Amino acid sequence: MNWQELSEQQQTVAKVLRHAIKRNELAHAYLLEGLKGTGKRQTALLVAQTLFCESLSDQGPCMECRNCRRIASGNHPDVIWITPDEGAASIKKEQIAYLMKEFAFRSVESGRKVFIIEQAEKMTTQAENSLLKFIEEPHPGTLALLVTEHIHQLLDTIISRCQVLSFIPLSDRAVERRLAQDGQPKQLVKLAAALTHDYEEGLLLCKEEWFAEARSQVLQLVQRLHKSSESVLPYIYEKFSPNFDNNQKMAVGLDLLLFWYRDLLSLHLNRQEEIVFEDQVDGLKEQMLSLSSDQTIRAMSFILDGRRQLDAHVNGVSVMERLVIRLGGNHK
Ligand SMILES: [Zn+2]
Repeated sequence: MNWQELSEQQQTVAKVLRHAIKRNELAHAYLLEGLKGTGKRQTALLVAQTLFCESLSDQGPCMECRNCRRIASGNHPDVIWITPDEGAASIKKEQIAYLMKEFAFRSVESGRKVFIIEQAEKMTTQAENSLLKFIEEPHPGTLALLVTEHIHQLLDTIISRCQVLSFIPLSDRAVERRLAQDGQPKQLVKLAAALTHDYEEGLLLCKEEWFAEARSQVLQLVQRLHKSSESVLPYIYEKFSPNFDNNQKMAVGLDLLLFWYRDLLSLHLNRQEEIVFEDQVDGLKEQMLSLSSDQTIRAMSFILDGRRQLDAHVNGVSVMERLVIRLGGNHK
């Protein structure tokens, strides 16, 4: 991530940090807090790289020099990452003691040292108290970046001594952009963002083979509904239901189906930019001709009924059975 990308997603955070770095007015400690997937860890990395990069530009660190690469791989002697030890539930006092020992020496290669504590809420109270002393009497040139999804689990005394940077949830569009940057399949990123509104969850979904299959089955289902409703029930029993074999999966199936009809409605309303089945516009346009906007809205309300039944633990196959009969009737 560079500064431009950060300011598209987290405008305030980017502004505060960039300004402070430019004027050489960084606080001694920042607390980066907010939901999972909002870019906190990447921001900590960006700050560290900006401070140490050997060929910094206006865009930010080059990502290619020795320092940028060593920081990214966790091997820079003046940038120390602390996380709970593997398999451990907490960050222990000994880990903070190690940090303080490291910082008692002058920085190895420059006037600066940065430490980044991930999942900072997992510090034990003793660890937090050790850290507190350290933050209260900072060594010149040191910067502490604490990262947390659960700010309220930290001691008030820690919070009050840090400058708090709150990360806001990403917009669907920002989630899409990040998933696309990660090389996830184009036809899945928009759906995954619309379903989860969350980068991490969206990424998990894109990586699941099941999800691509779910998408293709929903597309087959809407084709069948459009062409001949007789073939729909056998399709549900034989192909569809075995793939959506629990209510959680079936709920995703219904959401995808809902997106299809919502896309049809977007076409009716001339809001093509809102379509999530982007690569299916031809198919959508064809269906739009035989389904009025009223019928489309009715279809959406049937699907929402089905969603409610699933939430009330009605069996997924029964929900689907009833739903496709209603949807089929609506097409006539
Ligand atoms: Zn660099």
